[in-house]
Amino acid sequence: MEKFEQIFSYINEKAEKYEQSESISFLEGVLQSLENILDEKDTWIGKDASKEEIRKAIQIAILKGMRKTSQPNHQMTPDTLGILVGYFVEQFYEDQLKNSQLSVLDPALGTGNLLLTVMNLLDGKVSATGIEVDELLIRLAADTAELIEQPVVLYHQDALQKMLVDPVDAVVCDLPVGYYPNEEVALDYELCAHEGMSYAHHLFIEQSMNHTKDGGYLFLLIPANLFETEQAKDLHKFLKKHAWIQAVIQLPENLFASKAHEKSLLIIQKQSKTLRAPREVLLAKVPNMSNKQALSMFFEKVQVWKKNK
Ligand code: SAM
Repeated sequence: MEKFEQIFSYINEKAEKYEQSESISFLEGVLQSLENILDEKDTWIGKDASKEEIRKAIQIAILKGMRKTSQPNHQMTPDTLGILVGYFVEQFYEDQLKNSQLSVLDPALGTGNLLLTVMNLLDGKVSATGIEVDELLIRLAADTAELIEQPVVLYHQDALQKMLVDPVDAVVCDLPVGYYPNEEVALDYELCAHEGMSYAHHLFIEQSMNHTKDGGYLFLLIPANLFETEQAKDLHKFLKKHAWIQAVIQLPENLFASKAHEKSLLIIQKQSKTLRAPREVLLAKVPNMSNKQALSMFFEKVQVWKKNK
């Protein structure tokens, strides 16, 4: 058995035990088992494992728990998307990463899988902040970060309300999609809907920009139809005024359960007086991940764009 499978089996066994003995959900059982490991009530078999082996093992246990409870808010960003976001963060910050740390914010942290995948990829070069409204998810994220020793400061709060976070170099976020219920808070945003409820994903883009340094990049997993809805005109106007669109990357359809769930990766840069917009926006489609030749052509296209940008 591979190391990550051994760790998964261990957490799985403990979680099933707590599920039975304490009448809690399997996901709460996973949390309980991580907390017992951190409190040294249970032995930790992952001491000699890599950060990625531990992250993957916990991720599989969480995914199992999510399938069992099927809460609509409980969604995890899959590894393929996390690795792709990490690749782009590395490309856009290549020079800075050579000699300094990168501060990164994920304002919709969830289980932390997206942020921690990126952090493991750029190991030792990122310090991060995560915000999440769901208590169970943020606790799972906190425990995972602690076990893999990634420096993350976490805030359990509504990310659209006032946040005590200094502007960061970069934002990574798999945006929560839907209407934002707190209409009073929405009034503070330029992207507040003129009529009816505002889109949470639009407000998240604005809030992420508020907490990014001038010239910083935002790597956002957006609904594929983001620019096709009736409120898209306002979003376009907002982006034109405050940001430069760098790239719109379509993702392979087979990664999503249905057309309605399809996402794209939008990369924008917060405008800065000392910088300029890219000559050209990178428009590309990630091919099916199993097609190695098409995949290497995709990465080549990114490199050519980067050289001429
Ligand atoms: N990247 C995450 C991961 O890998 O687990 C998944 C993010 S999921 C698509 C969106 C997350 O946003 C959910 O965990 C949800 O609870 C959270 N969320 C939704 N509205 C929020 C709000 N107003 N403030 C903070 N978090 C929020």
